[in-house]
Amino acid sequence: MDEAALEQFLRDRLATVEERIQAACARAGRSRGDVTLVAVTKTVSARVAARLHQLGVPDLGESRPQELWHKAAALPGTVRWHQIGHLQTNKIERTVPLVTLIHSVDSLRLLLALEKEAARQQRIVDVLLEINASGEASKHGFAPDAVASVWPQLASLRQVRVCGLMTMAAYDEEPERCRPTFARLRQMREQFVGVVRPPHFLEQLSMGMSNDFPVAIEEGATLIRLGTVLFEGLDEEGA
Ligand SMILES: *Cc1c(COP(=O)(O)O)cnc(C)c1O
Repeated sequence: MDEAALEQFLRDRLATVEERIQAACARAGRSRGDVTLVAVTKTVSARVAARLHQLGVPDLGESRPQELWHKAAALPGTVRWHQIGHLQTNKIERTVPLVTLIHSVDSLRLLLALEKEAARQQRIVDVLLEINASGEASKHGFAPDAVASVWPQLASLRQVRVCGLMTMAAYDEEPERCRPTFARLRQMREQFVGVVRPPHFLEQLSMGMSNDFPVAIEEGATLIRLGTVLFEGLDEEGA
């Protein structure tokens, strides 16, 4: 696919997605400005990711840290990078300086390791706690029952700021069935927002993927993570 065709493809996809985001915001009586699109570029090349960014998408997400490092080196410094997949402790050092937000803090051990590295690098690192709200064994994240034990630990953090919660719903052909998972995350935020103390603040809800983002927006998502709806159908060469 040449550059002009690629640009047209991405423009069309963005327009369709934007329409659906606005419709979901309207149904929920929410402001469009309260929902940030994170374009998940894990299945496409740096070239495609760069083109999308150029079309006005500041926030890009990757699930594998190595791929984030690779694309961050290739793309302009104006990209706001999101680490959305599991982060191993041995990848923290190189990831911390590159990211705007880490969505996928799934253990206390990782949280404390991030604090240590952020202090060493003298950086503030914003993170979300990943919650396994759907209860699937294959998913990373804190069990909903386990998360209450995390809040007392936050008092010792100086460099890491917990800004909210993230979850993935179990895939379902009928996205409406994802609603309870998203509602559960929103309820957890309401339950705990008064418990955490600054600089931590449970503001963000990262939930909603290609299959289910309209429902997630209706349930209060502030960050949606979309890959397939933006990029599916790009040929091998284009991707
Ligand atoms: C791949 C991925 C997404 C995007 O999924 P799509 O269904 O392609 O939109 C979102 N979040 C996470 C954590 C992912 O790994």
